[in-house]
Amino acid sequence: MLSTMQDAPLSIAQILRHGASVHGAAEVVTWTDQGPRRESYADVGRRTAALAHALRGLGVTGDQRVATFMWNNAEHLEVYLAVPAMGAVLHTLNIRLFPEQLVHVANHAEDHVVIVDPTLIPLLAPQLPQLTTVKHVIVTGKDTAGLQAPAGVQVHSYEDLLAGQPQEFDWPEVDERSAAAMCYTSGTTGDPKGVVYSHRSIYLHSMQVCMSDGPNLRQGDRALAVVPQFHAMSWGLPYAAFMIGATLIMPDRFLQPGPLAEIIASEKPTMAAAVPTIWQGLHLHLEQHPQDISSMKEVLIGGSAVPPSLMRAFEDEHQVTVLHAWGMTETSPLGSVARPPADATGDERWAYRFTQGRFPASVQARLVDDEGAVVPHDGTGIGELEVRGPWITGSYYGVDDADKFDGGWLRTGDVGSITADGYLTLTDRSKDIIKSGGEWISSVDLENAVMGHPSVAEAAVIGVPDEKWDERPLVAVVLREGSGTSVADLRDFLADKVAKWQLPENWALIEEVPKTSVGKFDKKRLRARFQDGGLD
Ligand code: ADP
Repeated sequence: MLSTMQDAPLSIAQILRHGASVHGAAEVVTWTDQGPRRESYADVGRRTAALAHALRGLGVTGDQRVATFMWNNAEHLEVYLAVPAMGAVLHTLNIRLFPEQLVHVANHAEDHVVIVDPTLIPLLAPQLPQLTTVKHVIVTGKDTAGLQAPAGVQVHSYEDLLAGQPQEFDWPEVDERSAAAMCYTSGTTGDPKGVVYSHRSIYLHSMQVCMSDGPNLRQGDRALAVVPQFHAMSWGLPYAAFMIGATLIMPDRFLQPGPLAEIIASEKPTMAAAVPTIWQGLHLHLEQHPQDISSMKEVLIGGSAVPPSLMRAFEDEHQVTVLHAWGMTETSPLGSVARPPADATGDERWAYRFTQGRFPASVQARLVDDEGAVVPHDGTGIGELEVRGPWITGSYYGVDDADKFDGGWLRTGDVGSITADGYLTLTDRSKDIIKSGGEWISSVDLENAVMGHPSVAEAAVIGVPDEKWDERPLVAVVLREGSGTSVADLRDFLADKVAKWQLPENWALIEEVPKTSVGKFDKKRLRARFQDGGLD
């Protein structure tokens, strides 16, 4: 028997119509070198309609790809809404890809239009002649002077294109399963691969961002979206904020700890989202330049494991709760979120918060061992995490990567355990686990332990080849400025925190841990640098 329910499609156009009308007074705040620039969601709605008319005028039809090469700002929000709502496909280009990766990704997606911020022209322009499908480049603002168009490409100013366009658009009805947006993985462990989100997946995911036991984004919130709009869709914040009427605070290119602290002081966000390295930097900055950041009730941190020392520091020193979450570009990205059970208190509560968290009902998770057997969720059995659900990708765009899928489940490449009450603890990425004398050493556990030392600013652990044990851990450490701590001190500090056989004998004191294009520790580069072991 079929239900009697109406078959109303879940669409970006619906999020747009709702946000621009019901939440018309909410704002997107863009940080500039002159301070904040404000635009109401009602204005966003009007400008989004004008942009859709302008893009139609340039010949954008069907599911053509409109790419962005942009910071987080109001214009980027407009493109996020206009392009899928008109039936085309948004492609967020990662501005920090290596040139050859950028060319590969834009050509692979067959981008027709690229919208670029003026400050990013120097990064895009040298690659433009190789972007074979791009016919139009739109520069945000009024001035296009910084960009010479290669043959066959027209350059436009965003504001000139919007000027005089109608401020309403008859948004077409789209099949909710059709493509709305695409994002390539950042290539931390391989070549970037395309993930294509549907209207339905984005709509359902946005609702999850607003769930109380999820990130709990709410109407009165002021959300500081530090995580780039090109990194897994800014973790869903732009669409969810427009859906629920939360104000968005966009830092544009001001992502260093100093400007971020200034944005927080000025705009008083109630929540924020970014990878651990950003919060590590902000924490160190605030030690030198104390400031009240307690308007932020909660910060959502994911993308890599959050060191427990960082979680405690934010809570104790700044009264800010760190909400640990796990996800991937392939999972839209919200997977698990570490909200402890309601009745947990004290150390038990902390222990739950240090995990990667629990999955919502929409996302199923299981662990699979090396032989392909499903591992019980008993908190001790270890296996590779596999997930499935309505906002988890079932394939990659235009490539057959059968190894990444297992009978309808996405193989995440992450290894860990799950408790009977559903809390995931990741040991490591399978590629980063150190195999020493037939036993596993978790690089993440060692990093967390070393980062607990008060003189350590950052620490990353990799496996290096070893004749006797196959692999041994190497710790690359960045000490805080002026610290006189030695490697011997750090080893002593670890002595009662990790098993004796895991104690690293390879150490390297370095200036900075190299970061990936989305700000995570770049272990590929570290491995290349320390092939032959570190300094002792
Ligand atoms: P990339 O794979 O290029 O780094 P993603 O941002 O999609 O780009 O990364 C997803 C991966 O990040 C996950 O597979 C996992 O290894 C890691 N990750 C995400 N969140 C966490 C977390 N809370 N703890 C540990 N690892 C995490």
